[in-house]
Amino acid sequence: MTPSDDKPIVLDLKDVACSYETGSLALEGISFSARKGDIVSLLGPSGCGKTTTLRAIAGFEPVSSGEISLNGSIVSATDRHVPTEQRRVGMVFQDYALFPHLTVRDNVGFGLASAMADNRHSRIDEMLSLTGLSELARRYPHALSGGQQQRAALARALAPQPVLLLLDEPFSNLDPDTTERMRMELLHLLEQTQTTAVLVTHDHEEAFAMADYVAVLNNGKLEQFATPETMYHLPVSPFVAEFVGQADFIPGTIRDSVVVTQLGTFPAPPDYRGGPEVVVMIRPDDVHIRENRNGDGTVESRQFRGSETIYGIRLGSGDFVHSSEASTRFFPLDSKVELEVMATHTVVFDRKAWKT
Ligand code: ADP
Ligand code: MG
Repeated sequence: MTPSDDKPIVLDLKDVACSYETGSLALEGISFSARKGDIVSLLGPSGCGKTTTLRAIAGFEPVSSGEISLNGSIVSATDRHVPTEQRRVGMVFQDYALFPHLTVRDNVGFGLASAMADNRHSRIDEMLSLTGLSELARRYPHALSGGQQQRAALARALAPQPVLLLLDEPFSNLDPDTTERMRMELLHLLEQTQTTAVLVTHDHEEAFAMADYVAVLNNGKLEQFATPETMYHLPVSPFVAEFVGQADFIPGTIRDSVVVTQLGTFPAPPDYRGGPEVVVMIRPDDVHIRENRNGDGTVESRQFRGSETIYGIRLGSGDFVHSSEASTRFFPLDSKVELEVMATHTVVFDRKAWKT
């Protein structure tokens, strides 16, 4: 149970498939949900189906099987397709898509045309103030910085109080400093407005920093849906393991509920059901270097990252692992070292199913 389990489900995808006219399936068997106020991140490499999933939720693409529900009502199914404008979803695109001939104020008010005049003005003022744009209300989009354009796009998307906000790689056109600031601003804004959101990104750090739950997509399929912590520590596939951080794999053998490897013996995962020959996932943060002239490892690479240094160690067997060390620790290239692995969980995959 997570604390959010008692909140109502806002978005629910059940076994959703989508195909484009070419006939090939762009999405298959996608199931996940988001509860009120949750941020779900769709994470995966280019072409894996992130944008298609957003478009299906928004109602721009029909589903070829399965169901999508918003606030408990089915909006997409094979025999049902509620039009986009009736779904009450807000959208923020990569390029913000502001109307160039409208001021910030008119952009923000665009989706509020049918509301009563008094409410409309106060709602626009509220959104401008929430996004820090009150002073810039009369400007046109071309006279705004990237961060300001993004705030205007967010204000416009949130003004009609959408049931769900969809964001497609919203930070990809911003410089790194602005991105960092806008991520925090977005989190704050979503919390203040209690908005449920689906955030598309190909950057696992962004997904981890922003999301309550992450959905990793690969080749049109959902590989794993989990909290960032579970995704990082207990990935269900080698693909997820590598996509959400540095992962190395060494061979191991399961015997009497332990895994025996060249870097030591670890408790075998109790729910593992595959064969005895496995690969064990090793994260750099679990590997610690000890100076040892007779050690089995050789320092082959060193990458200074400021707060940490990432070392690459070649083992006697020829296998290669990374170690994250405090950047105050220094091991020269080509020196012999010994490794100690201290992991809270052992992650193994059946070697029979393993592809390199
Ligand atoms: P992502 O956003 O993760 O990069 P997309 O959802 O855009 O991926 O694309 C998923 C797959 O669908 C890709 O193989 C892509 O080439 C294909 N695709 C996307 N849009 C179209 C389209 N309009 N017509 C045909 N195929 C498309
Ligand atoms: Mg995309």
